[in-house]
Amino acid sequence: MTGTGRGRRFGSVLLAFVAAAGCESERPSAPLVTAPLSSAPPPAMPTPSAPTLSPEVVQIEDLDTPVKAKPIPPKPLPLVPSSEPIVAVKIGSQKASMPITLGGADAMTVGDASIGDSASRWTVRGPLEIRASPTGWVVKEQRGGASRHFTPCELSVSGSGGATGSPILWNGVKWPGTLRLVVEDGDGAKKGPPQIDLVIDIGIEAYLPGVIAKELYASWDPETFRAQAIAARSYATVEEDRWSGRRHWDMVAGQQSQAWAGETSNQRAIEAVRATRGEVLVSNGRVVPSYYSSSCGGRPASALNTLTDNPFHDIGAVSTGDHGPRAGRCCQGASVATWSVTIPLSSVRARLQAWGKANGRPDLAAIELPTAIEVSDRNAAGRATEVRVRSARGAVELGAEDFRWAMNAPRDKATTLKSGDIEVKIIKGKASAEVSGRGFGHGVGLCQHGAQAMAKSGASARSILERYYPGAAIVRGWD
Ligand SMILES: [Zn+2]
Repeated sequence: MTGTGRGRRFGSVLLAFVAAAGCESERPSAPLVTAPLSSAPPPAMPTPSAPTLSPEVVQIEDLDTPVKAKPIPPKPLPLVPSSEPIVAVKIGSQKASMPITLGGADAMTVGDASIGDSASRWTVRGPLEIRASPTGWVVKEQRGGASRHFTPCELSVSGSGGATGSPILWNGVKWPGTLRLVVEDGDGAKKGPPQIDLVIDIGIEAYLPGVIAKELYASWDPETFRAQAIAARSYATVEEDRWSGRRHWDMVAGQQSQAWAGETSNQRAIEAVRATRGEVLVSNGRVVPSYYSSSCGGRPASALNTLTDNPFHDIGAVSTGDHGPRAGRCCQGASVATWSVTIPLSSVRARLQAWGKANGRPDLAAIELPTAIEVSDRNAAGRATEVRVRSARGAVELGAEDFRWAMNAPRDKATTLKSGDIEVKIIKGKASAEVSGRGFGHGVGLCQHGAQAMAKSGASARSILERYYPGAAIVRGWD
């Protein structure tokens, strides 16, 4: 696996985000969801104090892209690592013309990420202001005013203090690990002015508590937390292996990969990660890309076609084609088990057109006002997989998940489709589409609400995982 201090150099990013291909785990939190399964009111999540956001700063969580990832050569799933992987998590981007302000730690060490030699590093008092310049980086101590120039490189910044260093404050969030700044020249998949990507390199065990804390309600059962910890660890292990050497980050801190709160004090999350340290799900000797989502609505999806075209990512352990007893009782008690929204037909048309344009679908880019929208195909569990849209220009088909991404692109919370398992009725008098759906998220792999329902009735993390990843075993890779 990758060692510490990876300084992966790339001139530009060649690959688009893995839109919807990651572990789209939509934590069932307000305002999209009214209440979790438990009768207790949703507790406040341990989110850090509200950051003052500049429009120039894009935290990954706010990035939703309806554009599908460019295909990359599929890669077999990894064997179980024998040492703890270091994951690279992109936490955000800033315009390169803007300074980056970093606080949190009293002392910070700055240097070229690809050079391990400590003599070349500069240890200085925080907070820091860092600017990209044509000749490299200018790092300035905000209080004392001392500054130093670094030639072009991936710049690493770590907070000193304690055994593992102290977290760095950026954009109102405390981030553990080592921060790496990478200049993107704008020639990559995302055209535009140069930007700086902020990437955290961190041991997977230190990364996970902030994932679990943000993925689950704090009041949920410790066994749900443990099952989630093993699933999230397996997912991250696969992503690290998949992207290492291909781009300068493995995952983003957001829905497209896994949510990440950064530093967390959530004891249940910390305990769940500690109790399952090094444990991953394994099937046929390989780590399972254990996708998970908030609620399958009782009709699970399989990874292939829903999330990915990569055949390695649809191994039997993840496929949930066997809907048997699970179809009848999983997360049906959850508030998100059923939902409905109304979207003006003109918006449906505009969103389909925009998605068609962005995704090379001229038939959708030219679509007229829909006259009917129907589910044209379902999986074995009855979940909608294909949608047919009729208009004056004829009938056009697209995947149910694609339809969902198209509708959700404007990020209008009032009309958000929580899943692709939908039925659509056109109300002519109101010139609108009434979309009713089941569940929340892509429905592949572990169902968080279903896992919590199991844990509440006494199930262990192991039996939860056996249910959602049939045939997979828990294997300890590292101590
Ligand atoms: Zn479910």
